[in-house]
Amino acid sequence: MRRVLILEDEPSIRSFVVINLRRAGYDVVEAGTGREALDQLKNNPDIGVAILDIMLPDIDGFEVCRNIRVTNKTIGIIMLTARTQEMDKVTGLMTGADDYVTKPFSPAELTARIDALFRRVGDEEPSDTGMLVQGPFALNTHTRTLEKNGVRIKLTQVEYSIMKLFMQNPGRALSREEILSSVWGGDYDGEEKIVDVNIRRLRIKIEDDTANPSFLTTVWGFGYKWSL
Ligand code: CA
Repeated sequence: MRRVLILEDEPSIRSFVVINLRRAGYDVVEAGTGREALDQLKNNPDIGVAILDIMLPDIDGFEVCRNIRVTNKTIGIIMLTARTQEMDKVTGLMTGADDYVTKPFSPAELTARIDALFRRVGDEEPSDTGMLVQGPFALNTHTRTLEKNGVRIKLTQVEYSIMKLFMQNPGRALSREEILSSVWGGDYDGEEKIVDVNIRRLRIKIEDDTANPSFLTTVWGFGYKWSL
């Protein structure tokens, strides 16, 4: 499902947006402060579009936007501005936002902007061909298959989802918690140990030397990282 974050400190506006986006078929994650928004994004790496209010009780929306862009270049960002000054729009776009919507806005206007961004980011798929190619690895997200140096590697659905998550986040340390919620779903309340078990199995399949992994490396006390 297409997942959207709404950051808005005004409860009435936030719930108005949430209700309308859910009605439009989106999975919605909420935040009332800048900090909360950054935490939610960390816990939900599959969020495709973030809607950011500017005036917030802690850090302002521009700062949140700047923070997101440090690690995430692909997420779509829409700024919500209460004011109509050109200055806001320019500042928003300078900090890495893709679009802005001026309050008051209609639900149809907002969903149209979100749809446009999802189309641009490719509906969570890496490209039209569905191919993610990195080093010796080629992941086909249409057929859900992996090849290494042109040779097919058989993966379980869970192993495939883990590979996809890492290949979409090259060089980024992912916590066990992040991997768990992304692959098993946010509602899954199993143990993080299951992540280690699956990574171990995945390493046997993809690493040249399982004892000294060079692709799926361990980040001690935290999680794992995809390095090439
Ligand atoms: Ca506000």
